[in-house]
Amino acid sequence: MAIDPICKMTVDEKTAKLVSEYKGKNYYFCAPGCKKKFDSDPEKYV
Ligand SMILES: [Zn+2]
Repeated sequence: MAIDPICKMTVDEKTAKLVSEYKGKNYYFCAPGCKKKFDSDPEKYV
């Protein structure tokens, strides 16, 4: 399981559709809003 860096929810990498790559690492999100937040300012959340 991965942790959504925005809301700290656990996300299953196998079924997750919301993924962002940042500096060679994949981040998984529970909702489009979380991905959007991360994408707009990833440095804040890694
Ligand atoms: Zn989330």
